Amino acid sequence: MGKIESIQEFLPDDKTAAVITGGVNRRYLSGFNSSAGAVLITKSRARLMLDFRYYEAALKAVGPDIEVVRFTRLIDDLNSIFLKENIKSVFIEDCYVTVAQLDEYKKAFIPAVLTEGLSDKLAELRMIKTPFEVEKIVTAQRITEKAYTEVLNYLKPGVTERHIAVELEHLIKVYGGERVAFDLICITGQNTSLPHGVPGDRVVKDGDFFTFDIGSVYDGYHSDMTRTVAVGSVSDKMRMIYDVVLQAHLKAQKRITAGNTSADVDIAARDHITESGFGEYFGHSTGHGVGLDIHEAPTVYKTDKTVLKDGMVITDEPGIYLPNEFGVRIEDMYLVKGETPVDLADITKELIII
Ligand code: ZN
Ligand code: ZN
Repeated sequence: MGKIESIQEFLPDDKTAAVITGGVNRRYLSGFNSSAGAVLITKSRARLMLDFRYYEAALKAVGPDIEVVRFTRLIDDLNSIFLKENIKSVFIEDCYVTVAQLDEYKKAFIPAVLTEGLSDKLAELRMIKTPFEVEKIVTAQRITEKAYTEVLNYLKPGVTERHIAVELEHLIKVYGGERVAFDLICITGQNTSLPHGVPGDRVVKDGDFFTFDIGSVYDGYHSDMTRTVAVGSVSDKMRMIYDVVLQAHLKAQKRITAGNTSADVDIAARDHITESGFGEYFGHSTGHGVGLDIHEAPTVYKTDKTVLKDGMVITDEPGIYLPNEFGVRIEDMYLVKGETPVDLADITKELIII
C-alpha cells in the first residue's frame, strides 16, 4: 500500500480529512520540499497545497497520486474545500503543530479539529523505508565515508577538534552532501567522555582517543556513524573498554532481525556492558531510526516494544563514557532484512591507531 493510501485508510469516513503541515511529513508524502504549504488528504483525493513560489516546480516534480493545488490563503482555501466536500472533521499533527497554531486552527477551520493519531500514523509509515529511500540513506553514508577517510590524514598531534570538524563539513559538501546531518561531534582526549561533546580548541595528543559522530544529508535523507580511533598509541584500559563496546555493538547487531523488538536490541548491548562492569557509564539508548530526520521512530531502548520489520533503518550505537578519562562509542546504521541485518556502513569497526 502506498503512503497516501495508508493515510486514506486511517481516515474513518469520507467526512474526515487530514491536513499535514509539518515540513518533513509534507516532503515524505509528496516527495516535494517546500518551506510552506500543506498536504490535504480525503478518502478519495490527495492534494499538495502550495503558494505561487513552488507551484510550477511542483507540477513537474510531483507524481500522479497527488494533485498540486495553488492556494492564495491556505486556511480560507482549505475551508472552501471542506465546505464543498462536506468535511466535518480534520486531523492535524499533534507532534508538529504548536499550541498557538492549534488555537488558530480551532478558531479558523470550519470542521472540528482532531489531534490524536495522525502524527503516530505518519511516524509508523516513515519507519519502513522503500528501497528508494534506503538508497538515499546509503548515498549519504558513502559521502560521509569518503570525507571521513580523507580527514583521517589530517588527524595528528597538534591539530584542534575544530579544525577536524570544519574540514569534515567542507569535504561532506565537496562530495555531494546537501549539508551535515547534525552538528558534527569531533572530540578528543577527556572530551570523548561527553557523548554529545562540542568540537573546540582542544588539541589532539599522542595516546588520546578521537571520537567522530558524523553524518551527511542527501536529497533530504540522513546518515549517522560514530567511530572512535586512537592517536599514536593506546593504553590497555582504552583497548579493554573499546573491546567491551565493540562486543556490545556486535551483540546488538545480531538482534536486528525482523520479529525482534527494539528492546531486544538495546538489552543485548546493555547486558553486555553491565556484565562487564560498566553499566553505569552507558547512559543513553542503543539507537534510533534514521530517515528524513536524523532521529526518528523507533527509539532503540529497553522499554520500546516496536517490532522490527523489513525496511526499517536503525542505528546501533552503544558507548562507555568514563568521566574525566575518555569515552568510546561505535555506531552504524542497519537495514532490517529478515534474519540478516544489513550494515549500511563500509568502514572497519576494529580499533585503528593513527
Ligand atoms: Zn551518531
Ligand atoms: Zn545516532
